[in-house]
This record gives sequence, C-alpha cells and structure tokens, in this order.
Amino acid sequence: MRSYQIVEWGQPIELREYPTPTPEGTEVLLRITAAGICHSDLHINDGFFDLGEGKRVELAKLGAQLPLTLGHEIVGVVEALGPDAEGVGIGDARVAFPWIGCRQCRVCAREPEHYCLSPKFLGARTHGGYAEYVLVPHPKYLVEYEGIPTELACTYACAGLTAYSALKKLMPLEDDEHLLTIGAGGVGLSGVHIAPALTDAKLVVADVDPEKRAVARQAGAHETVDNSDPDAVAKVKDLSQGGVKAVIDFVGAPTTAQFGLDVMRKGGTLVVVGLYGGALSFPMPFFPQRALAIRGSYVGTLDELHEVIALGREGKVPPIPLDLRPLDAAPQAMADLRAGHVRGRVILKPDG
Ligand SMILES: [Zn+2]
Ligand SMILES: [Zn+2]
Repeated sequence: MRSYQIVEWGQPIELREYPTPTPEGTEVLLRITAAGICHSDLHINDGFFDLGEGKRVELAKLGAQLPLTLGHEIVGVVEALGPDAEGVGIGDARVAFPWIGCRQCRVCAREPEHYCLSPKFLGARTHGGYAEYVLVPHPKYLVEYEGIPTELACTYACAGLTAYSALKKLMPLEDDEHLLTIGAGGVGLSGVHIAPALTDAKLVVADVDPEKRAVARQAGAHETVDNSDPDAVAKVKDLSQGGVKAVIDFVGAPTTAQFGLDVMRKGGTLVVVGLYGGALSFPMPFFPQRALAIRGSYVGTLDELHEVIALGREGKVPPIPLDLRPLDAAPQAMADLRAGHVRGRVILKPDG
C-alpha cells in the first residue's frame, strides 16, 4: 500500500510503500476512499507547536514517532476484520473516529478518550489517512454516514467535530444573545454552518479576509466584522448592545484571543480552538471584575461525532467547499495549504 509519511520533522512528506496490514483482535482494516487535509497536519509535519516567547512544544517529546502517516479525517470501506471485530461488515462505508485513547488509563476509563495522557490518535500518533489503507483498533470507532457525500463525510471527523464540540461548550445561548466566531477558514466555516442547528443566538463572524467574510455571510452569519479594523471592538460592542456572551476563537493567535476577550460582556466565555500559536497577555483583574472564563476545546468525543454526523444526515449542515485531489498530490496540497492557496478543504482520493 502507498502511504505519505513524515520521515523527518519539518521536511515534506514522502511516499513509502508497505505491505497492507492484516487486522488482529478487534481491529478493522479500512480501504480509504477520502481523507481530508487539516491545517493542524502542517503543525504535526513541523513537529512542534509555537508557545510564543520563543518556546515550543515538540511532538517527539509527546510520544509521536517517525515515520508517521498523516491524516485524521478518514472515510473508508471495510476491507477486512480481525477475529474479534463485530458490528461492521465487509464493504460497509464508515467515517473513522480518530481521537482514540490508550483505552487502559484512568482517564480513558471515565472521561472522553481524547483527554487520554498517552493517546493513539490516527494520523498524529498512529498511522492515518494519507494512504490506501488504515487500521482502526475497534469497530466502535466507525460511524455510518449514509446520506452525506463521502468526500464531505471525512471532514466531520475533525473540522465538523471540532466546531460542533466548541459550540456545545457554550450552550444554551438565548436568541437575543450574540455568539462571535473568529476565523472563517475550514473549521471556522464549519462552525458557521453548524451553529444554527444548536442555537438561535445571533452569529457574528470576524475574519480579516473580505472573501471569507462574504462566504460567512452566505453561510448565514447575521453580521461580519474585520477584526483587523481598529474600530472592530467598538463595532461588535455596539451591534451586540454592550458585548457578546460567547466567543469561539478558531484562529488561536494572541491578537484573535485578545479581540475575543475585548468584545465580551461580563460573564462571557471565550473558547479557544485554533492552534495558530503564540502567548496571550491579559490584565489579571479583568478575570474577576468581568467574571470572564477562558477554556480550550480540542476536537470532540465519539458521541459528539455521532451527533454531528446525525445533523449532517438530516441536512442541517450545509457542505463546506471541497478541493478533491489524488493521493499522490498530498505533498503539493500541503505546500498549497501552507502558502494559503487553498479555498475550502483539500480531500485526498486514493482511488481517484
Ligand atoms: Zn484536524
Ligand atoms: Zn488512556
């Protein structure tokens, strides 16, 4: 089988050929039909996340080993089953839940698996979807998606799930409140699409790119704002009559988080999702005085993947723009994404 792998941190991914694996125990072998390229794949390829002030966290120190096949947005068809794998059959089309824990630690026993201290995430710790086949450790991680196009369904495993889980952390929101989302790229745009399924609150979308703001308006945003505009904070406070109740920062840069904190009213909550990087500096007295909350949201749970796919199957999640490419275009697609030359989600098609 062909796999595109990180062979050296920070270098372009390379094609490697391996024997197609045989599933053991409860494992399921999927023949991959679509795999999304996520912005965080660039960070994984780099091998570190920027913590700001010259500090980094290295993936090698978090347990990632090379070579590693990237790709955590995976859809495939069941090709083979281990002797103990039950609940799916050969030929079934499924989305793979990639945020898998070790399934042995105390965290995995009672909390969402993606909080595991030694995770086995597909495409980040174990081999993922930039390949012709992938091994999934148990059939319970496979979700049916009938009614959603295959190329779109893979995006639910990260972009859709991440947006959905972040939104859920802010619910309920009343219909006369305002929800601000910052960043209308891949995951942020999924958030714009999914928000109306969860709340009637007024959605304000901030992005520095006028094209992305236009896309957000078409997708149903009540208002859009250019967060690089010096008057942006005043504008959002004005249109929300004193500040927004909830913010999701899909960028995760110091400037965007600062913007989110500045436009919130007392009692507001900022959920940070994006992994752009850097460090935030904020006056401590504002936390108590304005009763603010900041929390992070990282991907989502298996239950939430079932929920957001159910919304998609009901037609409640309009599609995000897709850019379909053959598997062998993976290195070029990553370069294009890094250069900012991609609109919508790049989907690799091993059979295309
Ligand atoms: Zn992702
Ligand atoms: Zn665990």
